[in-house]
Amino acid sequence: MSSSHSLDLETLMRTGEVSQGQTDVQLLTGLHDRLTSTQGSLSWRASVARDEFNRPRVRMALEGTLGLQCQRCLGTLEHDVAHGWQVGVVADEAALPDLEEEGDDVDFIVAGQQVEVAQLIAEELLLSLPMMPRHDTEACHGPQQGQAAEDMQEVQETPVRASPFAALNKLRKP
Ligand SMILES: [Zn+2]
Repeated sequence: MSSSHSLDLETLMRTGEVSQGQTDVQLLTGLHDRLTSTQGSLSWRASVARDEFNRPRVRMALEGTLGLQCQRCLGTLEHDVAHGWQVGVVADEAALPDLEEEGDDVDFIVAGQQVEVAQLIAEELLLSLPMMPRHDTEACHGPQQGQAAEDMQEVQETPVRASPFAALNKLRKP
């Protein structure tokens, strides 16, 4: 039985078939602090490819929607994921290229190992999701529209200005 939570690379390589499944966002634990919701799932598809030196690669494709946190209003930003990338495959750990040799930004995995799809996806998304997601100005309900820098400064200063009064009020109470 082919599980949708792990990739059987050797079978994938041998048969050349396509493997696909759904991964719950709940399982992408490495990403959770960048999401406003861990509901839903992403669809993935893995197929075998070859690089220019005829070395095996797994071509991954990912689709779905994630709720990112808008860095302006802190609300939810529906982010459509439609992402493809490739992972190099080597026969064993001895064949893993040195880090400096990897060069072209491809991660490598060892063919005989079980690959947790959720981990593979989370690692890739950590690198590829926008670092500072923001709504378009007209869609954003944040208070800083148009003059983000000034307002941000005000927001940051307010608690500092408020705290001496708060302390005084406390002193005045019997
Ligand atoms: Zn926003």
